[in-house]
Amino acid sequence: MNDEEYKIYIDNIIRRVEFARVRFDEKHIVKIVAISKYSTADEIAKLYRIGQRAFGENKVQDLRAKSAELEDLPLEWHFVGNLQKNKINNLLDINPSLFHGLDSLDLAHELQKKLEARDMTLEALLQINSAKEESKHGVMPQDAVAIYNQIKKECPNIHLRGVMSIGAHTDDKAVIKKSFETTYSIYKQLNGATICSMGMSGDFELAIECGSNMVRLGSIMFDK
Ligand SMILES: *Cc1c(COP(=O)(O)O)cnc(C)c1O
Repeated sequence: MNDEEYKIYIDNIIRRVEFARVRFDEKHIVKIVAISKYSTADEIAKLYRIGQRAFGENKVQDLRAKSAELEDLPLEWHFVGNLQKNKINNLLDINPSLFHGLDSLDLAHELQKKLEARDMTLEALLQINSAKEESKHGVMPQDAVAIYNQIKKECPNIHLRGVMSIGAHTDDKAVIKKSFETTYSIYKQLNGATICSMGMSGDFELAIECGSNMVRLGSIMFDK
């Protein structure tokens, strides 16, 4: 696709987001984060040229490489992956605008120590394993509100902004919907939370209809 064809293609995705958000609420606003993990710096620059600003990666080393390669562009970088403790310093060096994958109190404490030592803060979302899947990271739904409040209290350098989750891994739409509803109901119980990050290429409309206000779109944004 040339830039012009690509713009039409992306406009169509934006229209789908638009229809879904009005089905939830006319005043609801949804942000698209383009997940570039399968894409090159050139492909990211192409999407930037037609207006996309927020991008996300799920590996610290990829985030470092691509953000460095594209440092001349005013991009907003998100980290959506799982963070191993031995990679904390590497992530903080990059200073991402939002970390979506804070998935335990233990990790929060480690992060807090390193943030304090550097005298910096990090915006983050608590990841929820809403369908209680063995293969997924995140806190259990029944523990989420308590853990969120504990992190807020004990980790002042982590600025929690809300929650993130990945829809249930199944073809059963009702089960996926239930997992989004679980995350949304937790989000509504959190004081001051403003971001509910859920929905990917295969399920973003459903996620938005359940209240998501941040979708993480990978393959569909890059036409993979
Ligand atoms: C890869 C990834 C996405 C995007 O997935 P697509 O299905 O390609 O849209 C979203 N969130 C996370 C955490 C990811 O790792």
